[in-house]
Amino acid sequence: MNATLANLERGDAHRQIAERHLPGGASTSTRIYPMIGRPLYLEKADGPYLFDLDGNQYIDYHNAAGASFLGHNHPGMKAAIQQSLEMGFFCHYDSVAHARLADLISQLVPSAEMVRFCSSGSEATSAALRLSRAVTGRKRFLKFEGHYHGQQDWAFFNADSTLGRAGNDGEVTVVHESAGVPDELDAFVTVIPWNDPEAFLGAIRRHPGEFAAIFMEPVMFNAGCILPDLDFIRMVREEATRDGAVLVFDEVLSGFRMGPGGGQEYVGVTPDLTCLSKALGAGMPIAAIAGNKKVMAGLGPVGKTVVSTTYTGHLIAVMGAIAALEEIAKPDFYPQLLARADQLYSGINEILGRRGIKAVCQGLGARFGIFFGIEETPIMHFRKVVEKFDSEMDKKFVRRAFERKLYFRDPGRRIVPIHHGFTAAHAEAVIAETLDRLDDVFAGF
Ligand code: PLP
Repeated sequence: MNATLANLERGDAHRQIAERHLPGGASTSTRIYPMIGRPLYLEKADGPYLFDLDGNQYIDYHNAAGASFLGHNHPGMKAAIQQSLEMGFFCHYDSVAHARLADLISQLVPSAEMVRFCSSGSEATSAALRLSRAVTGRKRFLKFEGHYHGQQDWAFFNADSTLGRAGNDGEVTVVHESAGVPDELDAFVTVIPWNDPEAFLGAIRRHPGEFAAIFMEPVMFNAGCILPDLDFIRMVREEATRDGAVLVFDEVLSGFRMGPGGGQEYVGVTPDLTCLSKALGAGMPIAAIAGNKKVMAGLGPVGKTVVSTTYTGHLIAVMGAIAALEEIAKPDFYPQLLARADQLYSGINEILGRRGIKAVCQGLGARFGIFFGIEETPIMHFRKVVEKFDSEMDKKFVRRAFERKLYFRDPGRRIVPIHHGFTAAHAEAVIAETLDRLDDVFAGF
């Protein structure tokens, strides 16, 4: 089956074992790598590299879906995690480390006066919605199409697999991203296009005083990297305040990605609540909601909203996250990261242009998309991307890159590009090597 992809025999053989008790031989639905019909089973990961069971070494442009922001096996994080093991790796207890991590987050993220930890991005967005509902006494929330807020039933709508139908009023029909999501939940959500002031103002006028929360990814990384219209974001901020809705920035992916203050620093707008994960723990299973004192006072034990799980703020994750944030708070961290971003994105665009390929790379900070079928920049509209995105070219790219030992995520069924990325461990020489290989990938494409 994998004849053109050299040396995958041990991984293919392991698939038979994995399939005995793991559906599809994989631990999540999206961990399958469709072109090889199985996950890339790893032996180890180190810095910017992945090593599979057959001893192949890949440069990683998936980075654990954006979680391993500092690269794999980061020495400072490893030392902190080892320290947490010495302390007894406990969970469901607080420690000095918990307050230290909350303190670090509040120093870096503009909206973060108070912090509550969670264990995953989906948990954080769920906590943000519950808290918003509690403090406003409202049920409905507004979601922008193409924005992803996790896999829980209330949020798993209109992300990247199917385009909803746009009505004359600007609202988009709700489409589910999974079987098993009850239709009854559709009644709680209003879906509209992003960066579209008319659709937004129309929704606010039709549902005055109804929205508990307005959710958005301030940079739309889950559709590759679609950029915000800053005037639009400012208007949403003003209208949310006027209407009494809680403005929630889902910065699970954008947090810390292009600067210490993440997407909110980039757009210059402070939300009421922020959801953080991924880069926050740089690979540790940790997330947080952070927000202003007024809204966060709704959380127990101060307020009446319960957000509590057994593993919330697990010591291993908390200590790992402290080490990660201490790393990114160093003065030369972002200048270096942004220089690498420029090297990679301008390098890819130079190759695409020279090879005459109809595609463009758009990125911000350490995450980017390659938009096949599109050349005009800046890319700011989801529906235009859906209309033009060439998913066949995208699949061909991922396959050819994989043959040259570059691991880009294979998107499977999607109507928009997936987000790729790099880490702080992708040194100048690693990116230069990547560009050499990409030149090969795009030769005769
Ligand atoms: N929100 C955003 C913006 C995300 O990108 C993701 C995950 O990709 C989530 C929420 C859900 O996070 P998790 O997969 O940790 O549940």
